[in-house]
Amino acid sequence: MGGRNAVKAGAPLTPDSPVSALRGVGPALAERLERMGLHRVQDLLFHLPSRYQDRRHIHPMAGLRPGMEAAVEGEILDVEHLRGRREQWLVRLADGSGQMQLRLFHLHGAMRGQWQRGRRLWCFGELRTGFHGLEMVHPEWAMADTADFQAPQHLTPFYPSTEGITQLHWRRWIAQALPLADQLPDYLRGLLPPPLPSMGDGLRFLHQGEGDAPAPAHPARQRLALEELLAHHLAVRSAGAAEGGAAAPSLQGPGALWRQFLQQLPFAPTRAQERVISEIRGDLGRSRPMRRLLQGDVGSGKTLVAAAATLTALEAGYQAAFMAPTEILAEQLRDRFAQWFAPLGIGVGHLAGRNRSGERRGILRDLEEGRLAVVTGTQALFQEGVAFARLGLVIIDEQHRFGVEQRRQLQEKGSMPHLLVMTATPIPRTLAMTIHADLDLSVIDELPPGRTPVETVVMPDSRRAELVERMRDLVGAGRQIYWVCPLIEESEILQLRAAEESFAELSAALPNARVGLVHGRLKGAEKAAVMAAFQSGAMQVLVATTVIEVGVDVPNASLMVIEHAERLGLAQLHQLRGRVGRGAAKSTCILLYHPPLAGKARERLRVMRSSQDGFVIARKDMELRGPGEFLGTRQTGLAQLRVADLLRDEALLAGIPDLAERLLAQDPAAVEGLLHRWLGGRLGYGQVA
Ligand code: ADP
Ligand code: MG
Repeated sequence: MGGRNAVKAGAPLTPDSPVSALRGVGPALAERLERMGLHRVQDLLFHLPSRYQDRRHIHPMAGLRPGMEAAVEGEILDVEHLRGRREQWLVRLADGSGQMQLRLFHLHGAMRGQWQRGRRLWCFGELRTGFHGLEMVHPEWAMADTADFQAPQHLTPFYPSTEGITQLHWRRWIAQALPLADQLPDYLRGLLPPPLPSMGDGLRFLHQGEGDAPAPAHPARQRLALEELLAHHLAVRSAGAAEGGAAAPSLQGPGALWRQFLQQLPFAPTRAQERVISEIRGDLGRSRPMRRLLQGDVGSGKTLVAAAATLTALEAGYQAAFMAPTEILAEQLRDRFAQWFAPLGIGVGHLAGRNRSGERRGILRDLEEGRLAVVTGTQALFQEGVAFARLGLVIIDEQHRFGVEQRRQLQEKGSMPHLLVMTATPIPRTLAMTIHADLDLSVIDELPPGRTPVETVVMPDSRRAELVERMRDLVGAGRQIYWVCPLIEESEILQLRAAEESFAELSAALPNARVGLVHGRLKGAEKAAVMAAFQSGAMQVLVATTVIEVGVDVPNASLMVIEHAERLGLAQLHQLRGRVGRGAAKSTCILLYHPPLAGKARERLRVMRSSQDGFVIARKDMELRGPGEFLGTRQTGLAQLRVADLLRDEALLAGIPDLAERLLAQDPAAVEGLLHRWLGGRLGYGQVA
């Protein structure tokens, strides 16, 4: 014990001292801390509690339940020393309302001496059911009948940890570091309005859990949250700036190709499409590489915008590559582009995992020698061995999780191409500006005309027979129907079986309809044949696994049935529902569920029934799943925020880009300090040290 409390010799402790300068941090523990990315004393200050324990209230034993974490106080009834395989002590404790047991291993002699019948003991721990009723294993404890005993006044912080580092360790180390908090540089000095809570106050507040659990709106916490969000914003920006240093080809032309294209298009672009197309054309004309995020709800017509960008690149004599996240989607893009561009005499190549090798070689050669100007595909597009003669534009569809790192890989294909990322996930603008600080944002905020609102009905599976009746009528009236089968976690085979069963059931129940089945295991040609039959109207009912999730487009389809809707997330449900309501007929989406409905599932179905607005649904999705899940960890270190919370602190986001500008103008050297403080080199923004 002596060693732990001794003052370490040497220079006085500063925020920059190595962690090993703290009392109680020997070489082994220092190494564990290093592995957690905690090198300096100030890094410990920013290692913040993940939660707080409330030890202030003594719980009567009668009210204790297994699984609870509680502080109790009682009289020692007896102490039993067991010398079995593992030496241990069993202590019986009573408080008048009831009894419980403590189980302790390795007790030092001096401690053991205190454990005597009749003494009062305070302890805190998690309760479990033992042989003799409730027990705590290895609680934290203190004798409560001594003069210096004091029950905790504050909440007790609980730190994220690693093997071999206990909560007691953290608390001791951080207690030593906290007095240094006021010495930390204040990077935001002069940038925020004056009554700015100090960094030291904020850190003390968070580490000590004063009063109640730190209130989210407490200015000291907000001050730290703001700084953390700023650091992430700067990190993404600096990664983008590093990419942006390179020059891209200026893709400029008279726009004749686009006008020619529009002449053969059966509809005119919406105003929203026109607006984002001109934003994109503006970017493409510059020699700074475009990095633009295009947001547009399901069915808003992003593909047309992609076509406009592609034609701009082609007219300027460059190639364009268009990537989708799945094979089915990539094939659909290929089909759409092939159909749109054929009248212009423009060929479309396609690279996906299942290309035959001869075909693949041919496409690769044509791309490399510049004979092929447009290529669609999956990630296969950017694998090794794919080279472009003059790649000017890369478009990524339905993939907002496309991180800085992947973008860099992609842009290594020759000179720096322009980049357009398209997504149906509507991230609030303020949030997008922070997490996509390196992307400009365009939003399609208008659906093409003629869309009809979709009526959404939530229905237990027990009403299936009734539903099939209704389908018979619809088919009789010449309408088409999607029937989507349950997602079965991690089992494609079970999912397939469920789809096959529904297919058999519907085929038998609807003898006058042609029913098709499409799923992930079908060969490309078989799948294409089924999709083509449904697209042309020759097939009335399409039973599908969730492979049709995005992109499919059959305006005559007016009913979408989703089995086991309770298993799907909001984003998926919204995407699926967006397949109907595209024609003149009134459309319906039936969400079938198997009771009982768990709370979150019930809430998801309720949201689906009450809203069709992608923004409302996405926001609810983020609330229900948490921002980390919603945004995906791959894309952004923001999933690992320590103080800020993207939902709770949304109001702070709006000011971040401006704050970043002012900081860069006033004190560019502060950026490095901020990044180090909050990101410490642990997060994947690519360029960040
Ligand atoms: P998403 O944004 O979900 O990718 P799509 O690009 O697939 O949407 O477009 C959905 C449907 O709307 C397609 O059938 C497309 O041809 C059609 N569409 C796109 N723009 C318009 C428009 N301006 N007027 C009418 N229909 C349009
Ligand atoms: Mg699309």
